[in-house]
Amino acid sequence: MFSGNPIIRRKSRQIMVGDVPVGGDAPISVQSMTNTSTADVAATVAQIERIQQAGADIVRVSVPSLEEAEAFGEIRKLVNIPLVADIHFDHNIALRVADLGVDCLRINPGNITREDRLSEVIAKAKDKNIPIRIGVNAGSLGKDLLRKYNEPTAEAMVESAMRNVDLLDKHNFQDFKVSVKASDVFMAVDAYRDLAKRIEQPLHLGITEAGGLRSGTVKSAIGLGALLMDGIGDTVRISLAADPAEEARVAWDMLRSLRLRSKGINFIACPSCSRQNFDVIKTVHELENRLEDITVPMDVSIIGCIVNGPGEAKESDFGLTGGTPENLVYLDGKPDHKLEQGNLVDQLEKEIRAKAQAKQAQLDGAQQDIIAKS
Ligand code: SF4
Repeated sequence: MFSGNPIIRRKSRQIMVGDVPVGGDAPISVQSMTNTSTADVAATVAQIERIQQAGADIVRVSVPSLEEAEAFGEIRKLVNIPLVADIHFDHNIALRVADLGVDCLRINPGNITREDRLSEVIAKAKDKNIPIRIGVNAGSLGKDLLRKYNEPTAEAMVESAMRNVDLLDKHNFQDFKVSVKASDVFMAVDAYRDLAKRIEQPLHLGITEAGGLRSGTVKSAIGLGALLMDGIGDTVRISLAADPAEEARVAWDMLRSLRLRSKGINFIACPSCSRQNFDVIKTVHELENRLEDITVPMDVSIIGCIVNGPGEAKESDFGLTGGTPENLVYLDGKPDHKLEQGNLVDQLEKEIRAKAQAKQAQLDGAQQDIIAKS
């Protein structure tokens, strides 16, 4: 069952990305980024909707040219999730999407370096009430910083970020968040820890170019896990060379593991061994896919035998402990009824959905009580 966690979150100033609060006491938001051609409006809208279904709160879209800025304007009209425009090299693109409508501008201080151009973007953002993300990346640091530090370092990334922070300060613009991403876990973690002490704005976490689905997930979990457990981080993007919807799913798994957010099912499953009384791996895989639409927070344990089954089930909303000839279902930590091996996945899906519905009704009732008493 969900309980509190010992993480004390860094206090940050809150900004709004569309209708999603970032920072302050807002839940840590989940982001992902499209990889379709932005010029292909239909494909990009379809992908944004898939990413949203996978649990993203905010989606970033690359806008490489002024032509694609026009497409971005169309896309934004067709979706109902805040969009961040990812801008590099040409500040005119930022100015154009700001006019067309955008929920946040991501600019890279490594490739938009001229103060007059940055000042123009800041003035426009201020005028249109659009937040900015200063997105520093170890792979695209400014040339002068590379000369100064010889190579990308945490210090160089923080210096790059702080130059822009100072410029935003000069313009009395506080509506921004910052990221200092590197593919090296140590470098990224060091940079974020340093930055967290220097500024009060929200931090957007990411291990950039982390790798494929497996390697990138592990790298991101180590880096972001360390930071999130320190209380650092207000919004996350898992950067994977994989389907962008997977980025949102991995981010959710990470936040659920740290009990920082609690939407949907938290699966507890054993790795299985020769003691298993049903095919644990296949069952869990099937259930994860079939039950992705459930949003009510609940713990579901699927365990192959009595060695660990009863212990895990006692802490779960719904638990299955493998047995022969029948498995035992626990509801709210207590043994409830037996379940035969035949059609196990179908049966489990049905029963977990029913439990989710009951839990939702319970949560709604509790909410009504609070409203009635207030
Ligand atoms: S709970 Fe049972 S089936 Fe699962 S790994 Fe442990 S001993 Fe094996």
